[in-house]
Amino acid sequence: MLNIIIFGKPGSGKGTQASLIKDKYDLIHISTGDVFRKNTSLGTDLGKEAKKFMSKGELVPDKITIGMLEAEIKSFHPCNGFIFDGFPRTILQAESLDKLLTNNNLSVDLVVALEVDNKTLVERLINRGKTSGRTDDQSEEKINKRLEEYENKTKPLINFYKNQEKFISINGFGDLNEVTNRLISIIDSTIS
Ligand code: ADP
Repeated sequence: MLNIIIFGKPGSGKGTQASLIKDKYDLIHISTGDVFRKNTSLGTDLGKEAKKFMSKGELVPDKITIGMLEAEIKSFHPCNGFIFDGFPRTILQAESLDKLLTNNNLSVDLVVALEVDNKTLVERLINRGKTSGRTDDQSEEKINKRLEEYENKTKPLINFYKNQEKFISINGFGDLNEVTNRLISIIDSTIS
C-alpha cells in the first residue's frame, strides 16, 4: 500500500493535485473538506455540526474529524492506498492517523507540501469563491481566519513529519501540469 498526505495551506491546490494523480497510483482520495461538505448538503448531524465551524473558517474539532476519517478509511479498506487531502491538520489528528494505520500494519509513506505564497492563495480562493459556491471562499475575513488556523494548528505538522523523515515540499506555484509533474517525480522516487 501507498499512503500519501498532500499538505499545504488553504488554496494551495491539494484537492486539484490529489484528483489528478489518484488514478495514476490507483489510490483512494479522501478529502475531509469534501466529506464535510457532502454531509452538510445532505443535512446529516455530522454536517450540521461541521458547518458551525467551517462557516467561520475554523477547523472542525478533532474528535468529530478523527471519527469521520476513521469511518472513511474503514469503508474503503482494503485498497491500494490513500491520498489524504486536508487531513491531518492538527498534531492530534496526525497521531491518530499514525495509530490507526499502525494498527493495520500500515504507515504514512510520504507527506508532500505544496508551497504557495499567501498573496497568491488569497487571490486563488477569492476566484474560486466566485464559482464554487463555497461561502468560506467568498470573504477575505474567513480566508484570513483559515490561514490563521493553519499557522496555529497545522504548521506544527511540518516538524512532526520532518522528524519522521517523510516531509518533502515542492513549489505549488505555476502551471497546473508542472506542479503535477513535480509531485509525480517525488512520489516515483519514493516508491522506487
Ligand atoms: P481548504 O484547504 O481550501 O481550506 P478544505 O475543503 O480542505 O479547503 O477545508 C474546508 C474546511 O473544512 C476547513 O476550513 C475546515 O473548517 C474543515 N476541515 C477540513 N479538513 C479538516 C480537518 N482535517 N480538521 C478540521 N477541519 C477540517
